[in-house]
Amino acid sequence: MQRGILETIVGAMFAGKTSELLKRILWAEHQDKKIIVFKPLIDNRYSNENIVTHNNLTHKCYAIKTWTNVLKKYDISKKKTDVVFLDEVQFMKTQTTLQNVEIMLNSGINVVCAGLDQDSRGKPWETSSMLLGLSDKITKIYGFCNICGNEATKTYRKIKGGGRTKVGSTDIYEPRCLKHWRPR
Ligand SMILES: [Zn+2]
Repeated sequence: MQRGILETIVGAMFAGKTSELLKRILWAEHQDKKIIVFKPLIDNRYSNENIVTHNNLTHKCYAIKTWTNVLKKYDISKKKTDVVFLDEVQFMKTQTTLQNVEIMLNSGINVVCAGLDQDSRGKPWETSSMLLGLSDKITKIYGFCNICGNEATKTYRKIKGGGRTKVGSTDIYEPRCLKHWRPR
C-alpha cells in the first residue's frame, strides 16, 4: 500500500491557516473523500465541535483531549478514512501526535495539518516543527503587519505575561513584520 501524503500548513496568527485548511476540506468533500477533522480541546475560542476561521467560516470537527480517546471513538482505517485534517497542531502533544500521524500515513491515509510554527517569543512549537520535518508538502502562509502592512512572519503579543499556550484573539495578538516585532 502506498504511504499517505503529509501536508503541513504553517504561519503566524491571522495568516489564514484555518481558511487554508478549510479550503482543502471542501475540496476533499467535493471529491467524495471520507474525512475526519480534529482539533485540540484546549482551543475553546469559539466552539468545541467546529473549526472556525477568523472570518467565521466553519466545519464540524472532533475536539481531541487525548489520542487514546480519539482511537476509542473513531476507527481511523483506510477503509473508512481517506484524509485526516488536524487544526492547531501546536497545541497537540508532540509524541502521541507524531505516533498517530505516522500510523495513519503508513496505512495510506493522507494527513493535512495546520498550526502556528512559532510562539510570540519566536520559539518554534515542538509538534509543528516535528510535523514540518516529516512533511511531504509544506505551505507557509503570511499575514500582514498591523503597523506597516508588509508581509508578517511573526506573531506579536500586545499584552505582557501569560503562558506560552495562551489562546487569544485580536485583543492579545497581532501579525507583525520583523521590523515591528519583538519577542514577548
Ligand atoms: Zn511592519
